[in-house]
Amino acid sequence: MTLTNFKKSLRDSIFKTIADSAEELSIDSFVIGGYVRDLLLQRGKSKDIDIVAVGSGIELAKKVAGKLKGNPRVSVFKNFGTAMIKHHAWEIEFVGARTESYTRDSRKPVVENGTLLDDQKRRDFTINTMAISLNETDFGQLIDPFDGVRDLKNKIIRTPLDPSITYSDDPLRMMRAIRFAAQLGFNIELKSLQAIIENKDRIKIISQERIVDELHKILECDQPSIGLKLLHTTELLPLLLPELTALEGIEEIEGQRHKDNFWHTLEVVDNIAGMSDNLWLRWAALLHDIGKAPTKKFDKKIGWTFHAHEFIGSKMVYKLFKRLHMPLNDKMKFVQKMVRMSSRPIILSQDNVTDSAVRRLVFDAGEHVDDLMTLCEADITTKNAKKQKKYKNNFQIVRQKIIEVEERDHLRNFQPPISGEVIMKTFNLKPSKEIGIIKDAIKEAILEGEILNEYKPAYDFMIKKGRELGLEQK
Ligand code: ATP
Ligand code: MG
Repeated sequence: MTLTNFKKSLRDSIFKTIADSAEELSIDSFVIGGYVRDLLLQRGKSKDIDIVAVGSGIELAKKVAGKLKGNPRVSVFKNFGTAMIKHHAWEIEFVGARTESYTRDSRKPVVENGTLLDDQKRRDFTINTMAISLNETDFGQLIDPFDGVRDLKNKIIRTPLDPSITYSDDPLRMMRAIRFAAQLGFNIELKSLQAIIENKDRIKIISQERIVDELHKILECDQPSIGLKLLHTTELLPLLLPELTALEGIEEIEGQRHKDNFWHTLEVVDNIAGMSDNLWLRWAALLHDIGKAPTKKFDKKIGWTFHAHEFIGSKMVYKLFKRLHMPLNDKMKFVQKMVRMSSRPIILSQDNVTDSAVRRLVFDAGEHVDDLMTLCEADITTKNAKKQKKYKNNFQIVRQKIIEVEERDHLRNFQPPISGEVIMKTFNLKPSKEIGIIKDAIKEAILEGEILNEYKPAYDFMIKKGRELGLEQK
């Protein structure tokens, strides 16, 4: 981490434009927050810039926009006293330096104008309080009253003020602390962790949308389990995703134990994070076993069972999405489908893999068959090396067979090769149940590999089937 040369880091002309504008308005201005943090972490340049003005942030934004090519629009959020400009790839947010005081039942503070230091104090974590001056006298100077640099070095999430107050004032910060810890691989200071536990119930004043934003960010990390474990230790998890905490624990009856499905789930999520960037597939991994808690039973003969947990789990996905105000759209349906089908490939791979079983898998999973295979491979968490190898091997076989079957039958987005109209015309039928019977029979014959998924063989098969049903050809 280098502490010199911030002047050089702010070479982009946008900073000069902001500095000149502030100078003309005779106010001080600073880059602050995430941009400074990521600069120091050399985390890849952030495209979001936060500017704090000791004066009106809105006025400064307007001045800046006037100087920029194309005069970009200034979006003013009067209630928050902020303004935003989009310019090239930049998204620049302006705010006037302020102090904040909170009331108990809301995360919306009473705001008054303040100094830079006041503004730094109201920020969530020391690593997010650092500012760099844009003023002529000390352009490029880092202003770090809370030792954010030290905390960056030591990889610590720490609040600038008393953590109990910080989290109680705005409980979203609890989620942010955990999310930053997961994104950056940092530790949360012990005092902070305790304060989160103490204040956990205040999470209820935060909107589901905000919470979900943070959950998404946790799931998008390279190792989401870091964040999920922190949600668990801070006791926030049962308040947010009780379906997951219900999976925790191992029961033993008559010497038979089942695995701890909560800790297993965390492993699966980490595995999938190494295999795919698809956020919704990661959600599917997180939720793939939630049906196991309500379906768990002990049977004297077979031991622990979780009968139909995939089906129950997929129903629970809907309720969970609804409760969290997540979209009830095709993304939700995708997660449901993954959960519902999450045991199919493994069951398939335990026996000799037949072509027809693979054809059915491709038919049912459709365009998502690759995602399903990825999920199922991520689901292999056995520590038994022999079993691990066997499963992985079997999945290779299934994947190979999928390719072969696909080449032959193109089942991924199955369209029946013979339409209802053709059947009606051929046998001079009015809409009737026979049409459905024939269509089904054709589909079955394709899935069983009796005929190819093509017009001619399907047509011949239709004639044969029609005869069996006693239908006359026209
Ligand atoms: P990222 O953009 O990667 O999520 P960030 O730190 O830039 O991280 P933003 O939400 O963009 O986060 O916020 C910008 C800055 O505003 C933060 O760095 C922090 O200083 C401050 N901030 C944001 N949210 C809060 C909050 N809830 N409480 C206090 N300060 C906050
Ligand atoms: Mg940001």
